[in-house]
Amino acid sequence: MSGEKKEYPKEQVDLYQQIKWNGWGDTRKFLHQLKPSGTIAMTTPELSSVPLPSLRGFIKKELSLPGEEDKPFVLEETPSLQVENIHVDPPKQYPEFVRELKAFFLADQLKDDKLARITHTFGKSLRDLIRVRIGQVKNAPDLIVLPHSHEEVERLVQLAHKFNVVIIPMGGGSNIVGAIEPVSNDRYTISIDMRRMNKVLWVDRREMTACIQVGIMGPELEKQLHKQGVSLGHDPDSFEFSTLGGWLATCSSGHQSDKYGDIEDMAVSFKTVTPTGTLELRNGARSGAGINYKHIILGSEGTLGIITEAVMKVHAVPQAAEYYGFLFPTFAHAVSALQQIRSSEVIPTMIRVYDPEETQLSFAWKPSKGPISEFTSAMVKKYLHYIRSFDFKNVCLSIIGFEGPKKVVDFHRTSVFDILSKNAAFGLGSTPGKTWAEKRYDLPYIRDFLLDHNMWVDVAETTVSYANLQSLWKDAKQTFVKHFKDQGIPAWICAHISHTYSNGVCLYFIFASKQNENKDMAQYIEAKKLMTDIIFKYGGSLSHHHGVGYEHVPWMTRYATKGWINIYRSLKETIDPKDICNPRKLIPSIKEENNKEPYLFDVINVKHPKL
Ligand SMILES: Cc1cc2nc3c(=O)[nH]c(=O)nc-3n(C[C@H](O)[C@H](O)[C@H](O)COP(=O)(O)OP(=O)(O)OC[C@H]3O[C@@H](n4cnc5c(N)ncnc54)[C@H](O)[C@@H]3O)c2cc1C
Repeated sequence: MSGEKKEYPKEQVDLYQQIKWNGWGDTRKFLHQLKPSGTIAMTTPELSSVPLPSLRGFIKKELSLPGEEDKPFVLEETPSLQVENIHVDPPKQYPEFVRELKAFFLADQLKDDKLARITHTFGKSLRDLIRVRIGQVKNAPDLIVLPHSHEEVERLVQLAHKFNVVIIPMGGGSNIVGAIEPVSNDRYTISIDMRRMNKVLWVDRREMTACIQVGIMGPELEKQLHKQGVSLGHDPDSFEFSTLGGWLATCSSGHQSDKYGDIEDMAVSFKTVTPTGTLELRNGARSGAGINYKHIILGSEGTLGIITEAVMKVHAVPQAAEYYGFLFPTFAHAVSALQQIRSSEVIPTMIRVYDPEETQLSFAWKPSKGPISEFTSAMVKKYLHYIRSFDFKNVCLSIIGFEGPKKVVDFHRTSVFDILSKNAAFGLGSTPGKTWAEKRYDLPYIRDFLLDHNMWVDVAETTVSYANLQSLWKDAKQTFVKHFKDQGIPAWICAHISHTYSNGVCLYFIFASKQNENKDMAQYIEAKKLMTDIIFKYGGSLSHHHGVGYEHVPWMTRYATKGWINIYRSLKETIDPKDICNPRKLIPSIKEENNKEPYLFDVINVKHPKL
């Protein structure tokens, strides 16, 4: 395969170099303890050290950490190794393949340095972070390729197919299910970093569609769309560090999905490069011509090919965007209200309901508010307690948003507020909504802080019916806490409803505990199994939006029946006969399924080496 090398402007610093390699998000944003007070503070690129005065006490109480209430308690430090102290096996050699690659790609598009290989080995699950922090980097890809165009991806996939090279597409690497990790070391493996394919190619204001290169990350996508007066409206918690391609490949869901839909509702058509050719779709507004093939690729997590360009539905940048806070006396009141909202003709852009434990966490996450604001809060609390009989242990915070033309927003807001008042909700005005909007990407940063201090936190999410919602919520919380407390380990769990539908919701759990003595992954695996089994007990889906990757593979044969697994296997064999596209993801291998080969998940028991 010869030449036609094109000259592209060289990126000064690639995105993977600007994102934490051993944690979540922006390298300039993190939680830390102020000295000598021990108060936890958040540093952001804009602001240095914003103290969060109640957070330390909250963590101490919920995870039973030793120390007196009003004195700084010393947190045990469990720092991460640094890149220079991590051993990574040298890349495998495949001169014939690399020679052909080099004939087509610029040197700057091919990377095999240590940082590039480490950052392309893992996503951002707790399992990933535990391993990378202790330097357990196995099966790192041999090479990272950064294509600029659909044509370059085609050339790359053709070459990989010819030379039997494993290809793993990577967007932001933000998945938390082991989706981009090479799971074996037997073949030459390349990670295809899509993030240089970051352009909105065109916007059609008449059809309200846009054609977009899918390596684009959330903020850049919205920036380019806003210039043309439109927005996609997909805003997952990982928005800042995930890509359109990743969203499509994992069936992602964003905060405002109640109004704009999940990613599959927004996707009109896309190009997918597979080892046996490029698949294109001719979907317009709708297609009734048989199976809608887009659903074969959506959620395929790079196992069938690489999505390069997508035509997406867009909407006008909303004229009004209003978000409000409410307090409900109990979780049951909140659930009843949102079910009534969903069964009415009105749909807010977002309804989020935090259970009592997550509500307390939100209260603990606030910067100091000043005496007037503190006084007002105290008065509101008294009013709710004495006049409205709210018991603060059970109170649930809710954030509800409306977007669109002003008149439409006014109509929806009035109708929704009416339902809320009939369900004992107390309106807090727009300040909590504004705070939510400003700080909505902050919470995940707590995980690195906890890992640095001998604790851990993880999440689980599912779609559950209204009928089973409250039973699942109660059972999961009780079972989780009991399981750990029976072993003498403090444990904390909370949940929120993050996405709503007419026939169910996404229920999202966050749970935390102290690391065990061995600092291994036993607790993580226990928690993962416990939560997934409880979710299944109540008919929940294996995932509402996190996907499958490798971490959920052990449950796939319980979730999807044999017939579906076989259909997928035949499809994969046809499209990718050499199994080069992200192998061993999504479904168990036949050996795993027949218990002839253990799931990777069951054999990991990573020990914490001396740091
Ligand atoms: C803090 C945090 C918050 C999160 N919040 C949300 C949330 O609110 N909603 C949500 O949906 N998810 C959330 N996630 C999960 C994750 O962000 C999503 O799964 C996201 O869609 C992944 O996008 P990515 O670009 O990072 O993909 P990656 O992690 O790079 O890849 C994910 C999978 O997609 C495949 N892939 C990537 N690009 C392509 C492509 N172009 N063609 C084919 N396959 C491809 C990869 O091979 C891999 O299998 C969160 C994760 C974190 C860490």
